[in-house]
Amino acid sequence: MLPKEQETIIQGSPGSPGIAFGPVHVEARGFSAPDVYEIDEDQIPLEEERFRLSLEKTKQELDELRNHIEKLSGEEEGKIFGAHLMILEDRTLLTRVNQAIVKRKQNAEYAFYAVMQNFLEAMRRTNDPYLKERATDVDDVCQRVLRNFQHDDERHDTNRPEHQHILVAYDLSPSDTASIDRKHVQGFATEQGSVNSHTAILARSLGIPAIVGIEGSVIDIQTLSDCILDGYTGKLILNPSAHTVRKYQERAEHKKLARKELEKLREEKTTTTDGHRITLSANIEFTNELTMVKESGAEGVGLFRTEFYLLDGREMPSETDQASVYTEVAESTRPNQAIIRTLDAGGDKIPIEPLSQPEPNPFLGWRGIRVSLTRKTLFKEQLRAILRASAHGKLGIMFPMISGLREVRAAKEIVKESMDELHKEDIPFDPDIEIGVMIEIPSAAMMAGEIAREVDFFSIGTNDLIQYTVAVDRVNHYVAHLYKPTHPAVIRLMNIATRAAKEHGIWTGVCGEMAADLMITPLLVGLGIDELSVGTHKLPSIKKAVRSLSQSECSEMMKEILSAPSSPDISALSENMAKLKYPELLD
Ligand code: PEP
Ligand code: MG
Repeated sequence: MLPKEQETIIQGSPGSPGIAFGPVHVEARGFSAPDVYEIDEDQIPLEEERFRLSLEKTKQELDELRNHIEKLSGEEEGKIFGAHLMILEDRTLLTRVNQAIVKRKQNAEYAFYAVMQNFLEAMRRTNDPYLKERATDVDDVCQRVLRNFQHDDERHDTNRPEHQHILVAYDLSPSDTASIDRKHVQGFATEQGSVNSHTAILARSLGIPAIVGIEGSVIDIQTLSDCILDGYTGKLILNPSAHTVRKYQERAEHKKLARKELEKLREEKTTTTDGHRITLSANIEFTNELTMVKESGAEGVGLFRTEFYLLDGREMPSETDQASVYTEVAESTRPNQAIIRTLDAGGDKIPIEPLSQPEPNPFLGWRGIRVSLTRKTLFKEQLRAILRASAHGKLGIMFPMISGLREVRAAKEIVKESMDELHKEDIPFDPDIEIGVMIEIPSAAMMAGEIAREVDFFSIGTNDLIQYTVAVDRVNHYVAHLYKPTHPAVIRLMNIATRAAKEHGIWTGVCGEMAADLMITPLLVGLGIDELSVGTHKLPSIKKAVRSLSQSECSEMMKEILSAPSSPDISALSENMAKLKYPELLD
């Protein structure tokens, strides 16, 4: 057993709500952690021996490599492996690993990994360019040593532990998050990332409690320490006392009961106290969320982020495969509408293809509709697939990252071409399928009047609208404090788009994370938003919130909001209304 240490609270930002309990598993950047398990006192010499053997084997390999390269390219090139060999002969490091085996009572490869990770992180964070540079060599040697442990009989097959745990990582990409094994990972905390990154959004849609931005912590946290992850407040509590565990167990139980209570509203409409109707739909990233969509009481799907399905690492699915997935969505949500957003690759999401040079500013680069319009064949395949599925239910097509009129017209032209083709091929589709755009770039909001003439609906993507309006990268935690949903400029742009939509007789939705923020619901109702699309976990409480508000009171408040000079003023107005109307939802 590990010695019980003092309760320690690490504060990050709440990435995805929920409470999780379990031992920690730490995974730093660079390469995956080996499996970790506890050892008994009498196994210590055995583990020390395993470490020695793995080192010997690595040295032998490096020696052979050095000779080989020297023969091929000369002595100078071979020196790199000499440097690698020196790392393995560093007495301080070796002693630390042996001490870690004894002290932590963990298997040798994990003790080695943990020591090397601390060392590597320290090297990466130094200002010395030489040391920074050498981190890559050390990383390389580490991987070799770890691989050489793997011939043991007792080797475990997976990199992550086979027991339930809380994953603490330097960073997780959206695709890492999407492929998390829910059976074992109860929750996760990352040093990097922010609340509006796609990693956090995915965690919320998958219902995995998560914390982001626990800066500098990966180095200090010890694998297998007991821990509680509070995704509501962003607290990671290491070695919690019995009292804290009890408190959190009660809190988790209370949350479960509150959720059950909200589920009773499932069949009810989302109507304000003065009879104003709002459509409440769900955001999804995967079709396995469709059951949750139904259970949550959503009126359809307001945003299907197709990129996670299309770019999940294998080949891009064919038109027919896509058509069957979109048909599944259409049939499941029928008679309600499901809005399929065309591929939004790039930014912090998965790139569609490796570029010859990394983009210096991916969020301002080759992303969303820009990719689709330059990869017309792929775009058409997706459009044809959506159209084919539209014969089986009520679908909508939505374009991401629209910056102006020209892109809308170009994209619509390709929809028309696709329709003409299908028509000629005698393949059924819905000729009246709604076509809409995301309003998520300030230029599109400013041009909303012109764009509204071309489309059937707007869906405001506040996640991007905020980042592009206030010039704050949505995943950069250094500037996360400047990412203000209630910045007056953001609200005024939303107002411009909503007014333009109304003037042209089209509807406006909000599918960014703002739609799921209970403190902002009064503001959105006041703006006259017609549809809110949120993650299924948040849907029941948003429904209750809307049902507690009066549209006329909210639009009265909106007058004040639109002339308010700063974000705190706007937040205060909306929050006061929220606290007055549904305090029970806000704890
Ligand atoms: C948004 O930008 O608000 C949005 C919903 O799209 P995404 O988060 O996928 O960029
Ligand atoms: Mg977006």
